[in-house]
Amino acid sequence: MADHFNKYHLKHFAGIIADCMEIPLPGEYAPGVKWVSKILKDRLGGKAERAILYHADAVGMHMWQKYTDLFAPVHKHTSLALPFCSTLEPVTPVAHASMYTGLTPEEHGIKTYVRPRLLCSTLYDEMIKAGLRTVIVAQEDSSFLHLFSGRDIKSYECVTSFDTVSTALKVIEEDDYDLLSIHVFDYDTAAHNCGPEAKESKNAIAFEAEGFDKIVTAAKKYGNGRNALISYSPDHGQHLVEPGKGDHLFEIPEDMNIVHFFGTI
Ligand SMILES: [Zn+2]
Repeated sequence: MADHFNKYHLKHFAGIIADCMEIPLPGEYAPGVKWVSKILKDRLGGKAERAILYHADAVGMHMWQKYTDLFAPVHKHTSLALPFCSTLEPVTPVAHASMYTGLTPEEHGIKTYVRPRLLCSTLYDEMIKAGLRTVIVAQEDSSFLHLFSGRDIKSYECVTSFDTVSTALKVIEEDDYDLLSIHVFDYDTAAHNCGPEAKESKNAIAFEAEGFDKIVTAAKKYGNGRNALISYSPDHGQHLVEPGKGDHLFEIPEDMNIVHFFGTI
């Protein structure tokens, strides 16, 4: 793979979501990507009334390039793919902190695998300020449950990714959310244990993509006439360390380059 990196830093993610929902963000946040928000808002026919953000952990762009067919359930519901460059270090708490604060690791202070409660403004805080209902549905011990704790967010901790998807489906059916973040990491676990391109790992990507399909299908069914922005948004990639073992820590394309897929309902 050519040794180059995607243009947009993950810190622009919060701005894209906020711009689509017309939620003002504090000045320290990195701006969204104007042309992206414009395309999405044109498709929405105005601002997004809510957002469903699905975070499949550690799915690197190279997996999409090599095994594109596994992502068919994601492509089915999305219309805009945006390549992002992950954070340094490319690990979950650093990346998710940047995605939900609009800040670089130096600015939000999480530069390695530590998971303190973030004290700075997060996208959740700004949504809550705007009177919106925020919900996190995540697998057990997810970084989301640490970084964004202590806020008025309805949080569900689920044992498996299967439970995570089932719980998200319940939240959608009960129509009790405006910003819904979902974090699954079966692929990350399988790729660490077996290698990023092992059969188990590819199965996990397929399973997580099917989870996305179920969630978006439910959101369409139980939308109650409200539109929504949806995204499939990994945090970083993963590379082969030795046969049967994967990891992510370095400034290399496999760890840094990811693609987010946006869609509208
Ligand atoms: Zn990992």
